[in-house]
Amino acid sequence: MMRIGLEVHVALPTKTKLFCSCSTSAKEPNTSICPICMGFPGSKPMLNKNALAIALSISNALKCEIPKQISFVRKVYFYPDLPKSYQITQLQRPAGVNGSVSYNKGKVGIRRVQIEEDPAKIIREEEYTLVDFNRSGIPLVEIVTEPDITDEESLRDFISELKSILYYLGVDVEGEFKADLNISLAEQRVEIKNVTGTKNLIDATRYEIERQTSVINSGQKVKPETRSYNAEKMITESSREKESDEEYGYIFEPDLTEYDTDGINLEKPTYASVMAAEYSSKYNVDGTLIKSLIMFDKNALAKLEYAKDKHNMKTVINAVELLSRYKKDFSNEKFEELLKTIEMGAYIDSTVMNKIEIGEKIDINKGVRIEDIDALLNSILSGMKKEEYKDNKKVFNFIVGKVVKEKKANPKLVAERLKAIIDKV
Ligand SMILES: [Zn+2]
Repeated sequence: MMRIGLEVHVALPTKTKLFCSCSTSAKEPNTSICPICMGFPGSKPMLNKNALAIALSISNALKCEIPKQISFVRKVYFYPDLPKSYQITQLQRPAGVNGSVSYNKGKVGIRRVQIEEDPAKIIREEEYTLVDFNRSGIPLVEIVTEPDITDEESLRDFISELKSILYYLGVDVEGEFKADLNISLAEQRVEIKNVTGTKNLIDATRYEIERQTSVINSGQKVKPETRSYNAEKMITESSREKESDEEYGYIFEPDLTEYDTDGINLEKPTYASVMAAEYSSKYNVDGTLIKSLIMFDKNALAKLEYAKDKHNMKTVINAVELLSRYKKDFSNEKFEELLKTIEMGAYIDSTVMNKIEIGEKIDINKGVRIEDIDALLNSILSGMKKEEYKDNKKVFNFIVGKVVKEKKANPKLVAERLKAIIDKV
């Protein structure tokens, strides 16, 4: 049985770093640095309380148990991205344990959520290596799942669900969404390190499943190992022998105290896919469409919530879809105007959207009204015999063309109206 687990790393949306007050948004290399994030001897880290609150909110949204107190450890290793020779992370009492994420058809266990600092960025040139410490100390959370994902579709759905939950907590999921993948088809576990972006995660998984399947089919055993993903060639490559956690030294971080988690304000989680399902059953509307509109769009969700009991839900969804299609962010007042315009039966295109946006009144009588299109269609049809137009594509297209020309209407709309009329005959 195939089992896939993920270790996802996301950067927390804080203004300053995890253990110092350096900015997280510096552009020029090595301009946002201090003795703490460069690991000078004697410098003392101070925990960013905002980072803690966001990490605990993520943990809470992933339905984790949050320990009464959390603590930090030093994970000791030697590498140029970490001059103090250890990374501050969590081990025994992380931000959360034993959580879960539910999606369409399944549920993935969340083993742990832990807070840690990002190391510096290494830039390799041909003859030398550069280090940019702007990234050193950026607050991260690592989300470790149970190996509960059993196929590609579930992986896709889980990632989308997780990203949506994180998106609603203000985490930038379009940027650096990095993960390590664990994939095992037989007993042996293969780890693929540092895969960036959803597409690469899916592609790497697909490749690795094929690779392991062919190893097994040829009667060999899959080697437990760490591999890396080559996005250009779309393959995974053996990188080094598997290093287990025991090979790292962990010691208690004496510079940081233990932190009480009681009394920290947790942000209320938003489960957009659950809300989409609720809208769908309550208002008898297309849940998949709503889901696609609100999973990664706070404004769309706010508009749905705002208008859901004031207008017909189909109209509301139509309006939200228009905002999304034309990339508009309307105030509630303008959104009302849009809803009214739809309710009047007007055909809405980018011109109408722009008029509403700049506050120009929509003169419905000068626009194309569905009733006018219907009236013209009916008058054309009334001059014909039923046998002439029923099931006749040529005549159908001819009538559509005539009305489009005369009313300057949208062909798709006219075709829809004509079909509706003919179907009733
Ligand atoms: Zn600093």
